[in-house]
Amino acid sequence: MAKKQSPLKGLGARYGIKPRKQYSQVHRILKAKRKCPDCGGPFSREAVGVWSCKKCGFKVAGTAYDVKL
Ligand SMILES: [Zn+2]
Repeated sequence: MAKKQSPLKGLGARYGIKPRKQYSQVHRILKAKRKCPDCGGPFSREAVGVWSCKKCGFKVAGTAYDVKL
């Protein structure tokens, strides 16, 4: 049987369905592809609330799991 790869993998059967569904939703937003508003390079979260560009170092404050550009 093929196992489905999902961000829930690490949680196993713990915590019940509701928190695991919430986790996968947040994880999807966190890992979504983003572009740097300055150079168009890969833009990702550096720390909680801090988002930065891998290419030019452009840094912006966002929320813990998402950023509004
Ligand atoms: Zn950039």
